[in-house]
Amino acid sequence: MKRTLYQIAQMCGGTLLRDQDSELNINGVYTDSRKTVEGRLFVPLAGERFDGHEYAAECLAAGAAGIMWQNDHGTPPEGPVILVEDTLLALQELSAAYLRESGASVVAITGSNGKTTTKDMVYSLLSTTFKVHKTQGNFNNHIGLPLTILDMPQDTQIAILEMGMSGRHEIERLAEIARPDVAVITNIGEAHLLQLGSREEIARAKLEIVSGLKNDGLLIYNGDDSLADRVLAEPSTKKPKEFKRFTFGMNQTNNDFPTGITNHAGGMIFTSVSLGEEAMQIPLIGQHNVINSLAALAVARHYGVSHDDMHKGLAEVKLTGMRIEVMKGVSGITVLNDAYNASPTAMKAAVDALSGLAGYERKAAVLGDMLELGPREEELHEEIGHYLTPAKLDLVFTYGSLSSNIAKGALRNMPSHAVHAFEDKAALIAHLKATMTPRDVVLVKASRGMKLEEVANALINEP
Ligand code: ATP
Ligand code: MG
Repeated sequence: MKRTLYQIAQMCGGTLLRDQDSELNINGVYTDSRKTVEGRLFVPLAGERFDGHEYAAECLAAGAAGIMWQNDHGTPPEGPVILVEDTLLALQELSAAYLRESGASVVAITGSNGKTTTKDMVYSLLSTTFKVHKTQGNFNNHIGLPLTILDMPQDTQIAILEMGMSGRHEIERLAEIARPDVAVITNIGEAHLLQLGSREEIARAKLEIVSGLKNDGLLIYNGDDSLADRVLAEPSTKKPKEFKRFTFGMNQTNNDFPTGITNHAGGMIFTSVSLGEEAMQIPLIGQHNVINSLAALAVARHYGVSHDDMHKGLAEVKLTGMRIEVMKGVSGITVLNDAYNASPTAMKAAVDALSGLAGYERKAAVLGDMLELGPREEELHEEIGHYLTPAKLDLVFTYGSLSSNIAKGALRNMPSHAVHAFEDKAALIAHLKATMTPRDVVLVKASRGMKLEEVANALINEP
């Protein structure tokens, strides 16, 4: 973003303290006082442990082109300062104004699982034809989203924005800032059950994205779950006067669903109703990634991406790390590193992906705790255990105290010699190294907090 300090003050509803600074050029904003400052505007945010205002003077000294300052924080340091009521709100307003001025079309993606994956796919598909900008990594919250927008080059044609949440009215605010032309809901799962209490509330939280949808916009959503339609029909759901709907998923009632899926080395080939006879190839495994592809293809179709470019875009998609990444190192053992996060829906999807693989002697799953599931957490872990059968996999290793319930549940269908519960990571790693061979494949999955990538890395890296 390139604007003068005066323009920025206008855009965010703030007041420029000194007239002499009006024409100062600003080349973007930043909120982390430790990051580079070159010609940028520092926006101090008050966090739980730190308050950016304490570093504002340092930032100016280090070369920041200017700073924002929140009214109630006393006297700002001497220099180019924009005074605002609330720095976070001002940051959000600034990003909203910049996005409107740019004229870029907006694709917003939310859902319980698969947001980042779908975003990466949409990016790969649309970048064949348009100048696009996307959320980096997982910058998907009330701070990450505005920063993503403000990092967008001026000539961007389509902004692809991931929207995350942990409670009600968060997506609503993000959608208000972004005003999407196309909104995607990947699915409605159980992630954040703890904070939201019920799946209805999770669905309502996701569907808040529709409140910001432009009139005549397009909502692309997973129709496998009737919850979405029910919530959409609720009078309290805020929505534009007119909008189009397109559903995708496994069910044949959806506008698009897969008609054939086959595994091939390192990826999958699929056909769908919308694609007709024509098969698409993705360098990813897991049926859930076919479903994510259907959502991404619906976005590409909306923007008129050609068939050839759809092929190219999907075949070349590059995902952000640890999303069921196929890893192989010096040990020769194949590891499916899905340690980025976990919820029941995601864990079942990963087990399905493992079970769909061919050419391995044994299929093993290392499953760790799924966090933040609320009062039913033990039961939800046990249900994952019930989901495991000898037809799907050969060995189950659990890690963590909640996951001992997975082991317990697994005994319903799996023989006891195939189920091993661990509480100690080093012991788990030692056991896996002693028993797994290069003919085996090992899925590794748990919530982020369990740091199971340590297991994945140890398994591939050392003999
Ligand atoms: P976060 O809430 O952390 O931003 P996210 O929604 O962006 O997560 P991804 O990072 O794309 O999700 O994927 C995280 C994990 O969710 C993957 O590793 C995979 O196991 C699972 N997953 C991805 N897509 C789906 C899907 N459509 N259905 C079920 N599980 C999925
Ligand atoms: Mg994400």
